[in-house]
Amino acid sequence: TAPGGQLGIGTATVRGAVLPVFTAAPPSMREYFAFFFTANGPREFLVFGEERATFADVYARGLKMAAMLQHRHGIAKGDRIAIAMRNYPEWIVVYVAILHLGAVAVPMNAWWTAEELDYGLKDSGARMVIADEERARRMATLGCHAVVLTVRTSADVAAGFGFARVEDEVAASPDTMWYQPEIAPEDDATIMYTSGSTGSPKGAVSTHRALVSGSMNYLVTGLALLELSAQAGAPPADQQVMLLNVPLFHITGSVPVLLVSIAIGRKMVIMHKWDAGEALRLIEKERATYFVGVPTMSLELMQHPDHDKYDLSSLVDIASGGAPRPPEHVERLANTFVGKNPVQGYGLTETNGVGAGNMRDNYRAKPASTGRAAAPLVELRIDAGDGPVGPGLPSGSVGEVCIRTVCNCRGYWNKPDATLAAFPGDGWFRSGDLGYLDEEGYLFIVDRKKDIIIRGGENISCQEVESALYTHPAVAEASVFGLPDERLGEIVGAVVYVKPGAQLEPDALHDFVARDLSAFKVPARIWISAEQLPKLGSGKIDKVTLRTQYRAIHAGK
Ligand code: AMP
Repeated sequence: TAPGGQLGIGTATVRGAVLPVFTAAPPSMREYFAFFFTANGPREFLVFGEERATFADVYARGLKMAAMLQHRHGIAKGDRIAIAMRNYPEWIVVYVAILHLGAVAVPMNAWWTAEELDYGLKDSGARMVIADEERARRMATLGCHAVVLTVRTSADVAAGFGFARVEDEVAASPDTMWYQPEIAPEDDATIMYTSGSTGSPKGAVSTHRALVSGSMNYLVTGLALLELSAQAGAPPADQQVMLLNVPLFHITGSVPVLLVSIAIGRKMVIMHKWDAGEALRLIEKERATYFVGVPTMSLELMQHPDHDKYDLSSLVDIASGGAPRPPEHVERLANTFVGKNPVQGYGLTETNGVGAGNMRDNYRAKPASTGRAAAPLVELRIDAGDGPVGPGLPSGSVGEVCIRTVCNCRGYWNKPDATLAAFPGDGWFRSGDLGYLDEEGYLFIVDRKKDIIIRGGENISCQEVESALYTHPAVAEASVFGLPDERLGEIVGAVVYVKPGAQLEPDALHDFVARDLSAFKVPARIWISAEQLPKLGSGKIDKVTLRTQYRAIHAGK
């Protein structure tokens, strides 16, 4: 019988995974958590260094945290609460609490500088931010409008910042909420920031329905995977272990890794931050079965001098997503980690990670493909224009990849124009990626329509970096584009033309923009052009010509 979740009429155990039998999808993440956390209660859920917690522990902490937010801070339905930390168990507890309460979780990129955090907090109108010590330190320089609570910070340090500590607040609060606001499927659940083509990051807003659907879609795809993994000799679900090596503030960390783990009762081994050697050690120690990361991570795993010193026999998949995985890596991975599957997925923040998947059955036959539409809730179409999505181009024709699914976000927070352009109606989302579908429905991503760089899986808006360069008084013209890089996929390159009579060295400009931009956005190479930058007929800078020219220079180093 179904413990907790009212909608569940029972559970079915499929190859060790306790799966719910629902009469209808859970209407909100509150029911989702209630059902799955309870169903998996006594199993071990989180491993973080020496700390271990069961599903029941984490859920109980989440409920207490929700009570504290309501009693001590009057947090109500719809209030935005930012989470500004690296991977910690508390990230997950806070996330559960916010969604249970009916408030809106706003994960912030842990690499953001104080200025970028300030932007995210103001843009989302967050009432509160829950931060680890390093993020709290950045916030302390801001005179921030939101209430700041800290985690994993000593009393002295928190007092020095002038912020209260979460654990003290929880200790001072009643354990249960004094009222439970109704949550409807269309209510907002999360705002995830993503760098689109235009300037500053945009907040992609997910409803409860989108999040529940996204997670359930993975569950169904996962069921097929359970069958396949059983054939491949993988352990049943209750012995599956996920290495959490990606940040929780990215969509891969929070939906396919976190929410799906909660549903299937899968243990998660939390890495505080990425480190290939540490990942290898943890795979051996905790017998991890799944690894999902950006292509840079699996490349580093493969290139690590000690990889064959570790017992990696527990591993089943070495999955990637978030950036193109070069087909030659697929082959090298398959040869280096024999019997492990270098599968890959394609998705975006705006689709809650769902899109396409090249799974165990076919990645070797079509290593350049990101796979077929992720069944059952996803439809892919290739479209030539802008505005409403047409009937779709024939197979083989390149156009914009469009995704229709109930898992899509409802739009961008407070950005009606950008929302209309990307979500043109009828359930479609325009990805800004260029690609084609082959005759069997396999998707191949070939380029990007949007002006972004993906460096080690981290999206960077070229315009945001160009704007930062233009704030230097000596810069007359600036253009930013991606340069190929073996490890990171792409790195940031910039060319500037300096105002006549002014003097500027690349290093000085680098240091100037590094003050306000996260380190990953700061150009790795800056060239000062002796001439004005080439222009198109429209007067715009001809980025394609510049990019070709400087990629050749970069290749020659
Ligand atoms: P994000 O919203 O940060 O997850 O970034 C989404 C973008 O990452 C997509 O629009 C693509 O440009 C890129 N991307 C994600 N997965 C893949 C993949 N498997 N192959 C190529 N590009 C990808």
